[in-house]
Amino acid sequence: MFNPRECAGINITMQFAVQRCPELADVQHRWCDECERAHEQDPRLFAHVNPACGERTVCWSRTVARLPLGNQVGLCLHELGHLLDPRSGDPVEQEQHADLAVFDQFGIEMQYRGETELEWVDPQEVAGG
Ligand SMILES: [Zn+2]
Ligand SMILES: [Zn+2]
Repeated sequence: MFNPRECAGINITMQFAVQRCPELADVQHRWCDECERAHEQDPRLFAHVNPACGERTVCWSRTVARLPLGNQVGLCLHELGHLLDPRSGDPVEQEQHADLAVFDQFGIEMQYRGETELEWVDPQEVAGG
């Protein structure tokens, strides 16, 4: 896969997000070696937003392609939440702020499902733009 946007869940989430929030149109997605290493250390980690990797950029581990669609949608929305609310501070609070930003912007409540409590959102919520 050349670009993470070829992942169905990331693709439908971005179409939906940009339509609702045009300021997200410039967000880039890229594969990131650091994400691959992080995922090997912690199976919950699939993506990050890190200005050192690029401004307005969501970095991904290629393993995201093997996740169910709902996890891809949840993860992508969560990372967009970090871009929507780039406040610094306590790491736990940053995670909460990201999901709050998703709720404020899109009216979508983040869910955490499965053994690893991974981000999950019903793909129907973002289907059809
Ligand atoms: Zn990165
Ligand atoms: Zn996060």
